[in-house]
Parts: sequence; C-alpha cells; structure tokens
Amino acid sequence: MRLLFDEITGKTDRYSIHDSHWFPSAREYSVIAATATFSVSRQDHETVFLKGEIQGRCKVVCDRCGESYEENLQSAFVYLATTREEDTVTVAEQECSDEDALILYLTEPIIEVDEILREQALLAVPQKNVCSEDCEGICAGCGVVLKKEPCRCEPDIRNSPFAVLKKMKNL
Ligand SMILES: [Zn+2]
Ligand SMILES: [Zn+2]
Repeated sequence: MRLLFDEITGKTDRYSIHDSHWFPSAREYSVIAATATFSVSRQDHETVFLKGEIQGRCKVVCDRCGESYEENLQSAFVYLATTREEDTVTVAEQECSDEDALILYLTEPIIEVDEILREQALLAVPQKNVCSEDCEGICAGCGVVLKKEPCRCEPDIRNSPFAVLKKMKNL
C-alpha cells in the first residue's frame, strides 16, 4: 500500500489492513494472523503524521526445548514522514513530542506503508523464544524434552548432595 501526500488531508484518515501480506517471512517464525491499523494526517505541505499499531499471532520455536508454540505480536508506532532535508525536523516541531516518533525522510512525497509495517513487524517478533518461563529445555544427559517426558538419566547417587544424607540414615 502506498499513500501519496496529495491524498492525505488535514483531517485524520484511518486505515486497517486485515491480511498479513506485508509481514516479512523468516525461518524463525510463521505468521498465523496479523492486522495493521493506522491513521494519517497532514501536518503541513512537507510532513505527514502516521500513527498505528500491528497485532497478530505467530508460531515460533522455543530456544530451550525446540517445540513450537504461539506467541502474540504487538507493536505501536508513530512516524513523522517528511520530504524535508535530513536533520531539519526538530523535536519541537513534532506534535507528538511526548511519544517516540520516528522520523522518516522521504525523497518523494509517497509513503510506502508496507515498508513501515515490515519494519515494525520485525521489531514485534520476539528475539528470544521461550515457550514458558519454567521451560527446562532438553536434558543434556538423555535428550528428552523435559516438559513432555521425565528425565531418563540414572540418578548419580555418589555426586548427589543427598548421598551424604542417605549414608547417615543407613548408619
Ligand atoms: Zn520450551
Ligand atoms: Zn536426562
């Protein structure tokens, strides 16, 4: 989706995209569903204010146990797209100075919305994937996925801290 500055007026226009064609694909995850909603409004003849969010779900693989699970995706963003020269937009000029607005310098008065959404999608995808806080991963000894099966390793009685206790009991 492309937005031309000429099509954007002073009043706020809202858009939503209910498919995930813009979502970048990668080996690390697969997208189940994604929605993007955003609004645009013209600040002046050279600047457009774009605010929105993406939401979705993706399937990822746990770094610890290697099992796949679903993760929610969420990212909110604010952009100030401008055709002005770089470094000529100051924070004071931003209507949204209380938010983390990203300044997008354009060579033409055209916003490639898909590119913005792709960038945000990559930020929303978790970098570290753990299926649950207490995932114990795979046993280094016997190789079982510990959340699915109990460890099959023989308990090593000699090195166990309880070995001493046991000896004392046997006395
Ligand atoms: Zn896991
Ligand atoms: Zn084991």
